[in-house]
Amino acid sequence: MENITTLEEARAYKFGVWAGNQNGQAYNEGKCVDTVWKKFSSYQCVNKNGYGPEKLYCKKHAPVDKNTPTTIWYEVSTRFNYNIVEIKVISETEMQLIDNNGYRLKKRDLHNIRFPSLKLAQDYLISIAKNNITDAEEQISKASEFINSVKS
Ligand SMILES: [Zn+2]
Repeated sequence: MENITTLEEARAYKFGVWAGNQNGQAYNEGKCVDTVWKKFSSYQCVNKNGYGPEKLYCKKHAPVDKNTPTTIWYEVSTRFNYNIVEIKVISETEMQLIDNNGYRLKKRDLHNIRFPSLKLAQDYLISIAKNNITDAEEQISKASEFINSVKS
C-alpha cells in the first residue's frame, strides 16, 4: 500500500522501481493503484478500480474508511506465548475476517485462532495449557519407562 489518495499522485507514481529498473512502470489509469508483489518484483494491481479515495482502488485493496464500525474479536496464539490479543474487525465471512487496517485474516491459521468472544478465547487458551501438561506428563512417563528398562 503506497497510500496514494489522488489521481495526481497516481499519475506521478512509478511501479516496480528497483536498481535494475529505475524508471519503473507508469500508472495504468482504470486499474487499481495499489502495488502487488510476486516473489521479489512489484507491479500495479491488475484489478479494475472503482473503490476508495477518488475510486482509485479495486474492491480488495481499497483503504478502510476509519468510520466503519468494528466488532472486537480475540486472537489466541497457538505457539510460544499464552496471550489474547484484541482485533478490531470490520467484516466477517465464513473463513475470514477483515480488520480495521484492511488486512484479511483467516479465522484459523498456522499460528493463531480468532474467536468472537473473550470467553471462547480464554477457554481455548486453558485447553492448550492443559494439553501441554498432559504431553509433559506423557514425556515424563516415557522417560521413566526408558530409564527403568535400561536398569539391570
Ligand atoms: Zn487492487
